[in-house]
Amino acid sequence: MKYYILFGPPGAGKGTQAGAMAERYNLCHISTGELLRSEIAAGTELGKQAKTLIDAGNLVPDEVVESMIEAKFRSTKGVDGFLLDGFPRTIAQAKVLDEMLEKHGESVTACLSIMIPDAMVHERISHRAAIEGRADDARPEIVENRIRTYHAKTEPIIRYYKDAEKYCEIDGTGSITEVHDRIFHLMDRF
Ligand code: AMP
Repeated sequence: MKYYILFGPPGAGKGTQAGAMAERYNLCHISTGELLRSEIAAGTELGKQAKTLIDAGNLVPDEVVESMIEAKFRSTKGVDGFLLDGFPRTIAQAKVLDEMLEKHGESVTACLSIMIPDAMVHERISHRAAIEGRADDARPEIVENRIRTYHAKTEPIIRYYKDAEKYCEIDGTGSITEVHDRIFHLMDRF
């Protein structure tokens, strides 16, 4: 089984690229952000707790997303691997993921990191806010907080996967097709 991590700042295009990647390589795409948004939409207890944190641009507790991921791993059949989008987002989550996979004799295949400059992060998010209507995209101070959180808590993951020699960086600027060609070129190697 392949276990890919799709990494990058908010607005880098992870969600946009994930569908084509999942289809081409028969992967189950797991977006923790989307899973949390469906919990909110369904009005579950978990959704209610997550909503306050998400709407403020903060992360939900590690244990919440870790158990979501584990449940998905357990219930998904018939795929050649998984594409993790928005997870791990902290070093603690990255370590737990390694432990989860190790138990089954598996490991992370690669961390595919889509990189765009900070200025483009703002541009892309305000564009998406107009299309998708996500509450956490709409207010500039919330977007700022998510970018701060990314730099403080999520960016250190880059070092973690570099040390494990699993880090691959992709230039996320340009058209959707240009970016997915770069990604496919890289993934064909694994
Ligand atoms: P995303 O759709 O990936 O931008 O995620 C939207 C929001 O969901 C984030 O700003 C966090 O509040 C929450 N979230 C998603 N994934 C995680 C994660 N792995 N750890 C903690 N919070 C998460």
